[in-house]
Amino acid sequence: MAEMEKRGIERHLGHKMKGFEANKVKTEGGEFAADLILFMPGMTGNSWFDNSELPRSAGGLVQADKHCKVAGLDKVYVAGDSGSFPGPDWMPKQAHMADLQAEAAAKNLLAEIKGKPADHTFKVELICIVDSNEKGMLIKRTETGSTLLPNCRAFHWAKRGFEKVYLRKYR
Ligand SMILES: Cc1cc2nc3c(=O)[nH]c(=O)nc-3n(C[C@H](O)[C@H](O)[C@H](O)COP(=O)(O)OP(=O)(O)OC[C@H]3O[C@@H](n4cnc5c(N)ncnc54)[C@H](O)[C@@H]3O)c2cc1C
Repeated sequence: MAEMEKRGIERHLGHKMKGFEANKVKTEGGEFAADLILFMPGMTGNSWFDNSELPRSAGGLVQADKHCKVAGLDKVYVAGDSGSFPGPDWMPKQAHMADLQAEAAAKNLLAEIKGKPADHTFKVELICIVDSNEKGMLIKRTETGSTLLPNCRAFHWAKRGFEKVYLRKYR
């Protein structure tokens, strides 16, 4: 909020959307003019989920438990954006979260195949650098607390460096 304030960005928060016009956004809390509208809808499951037997959350995602196991199905696991997992309401849909869940899911699937206890869980962690091309701000939240480190050039370069290292193993 403070960073938006500094840049003269007005916020219009906490009101449900009613609709758009070419140059106007309409919400239950009023409307405002816009030159450009970027809309990001809430996430839901893939349309093919509808034709499957996968159990679904209220939001249409694949319902899983804390071991990433899909409820009621044998040797079926889900990780990442497609799944709905138990956890705090701030648990992010983030690549980092998807990584942590994928690791737990893979370990549990292998354990289940080998007839061993499939009891690996994943840490709930929001961590990101909000990059503004020249500078970046680090935000971290875990179940024990949160950290916000101010916008500086070092975080922009740290994000670029992380990207290189992360992608190298796949390339
Ligand atoms: C604009 C934007 C910016 C983001 N920035 C960040 C960030 O800075 N940091 C961060 O941590 N997260 C970020 N995220 C979130 C992050 O991208 C996702 O949380 C992450 O990619 C989820 O990984 P996933 O493997 O679950 O799903 P995905 O990465 O979406 O992978 C799913 C894959 O399945 C494929 N697929 C779909 N249907 C089928 C099918 N029927 N058959 C075969 N393949 C199929 C898709 O093509 C896709 O490749 C961002 C997301 C967006 C949209």
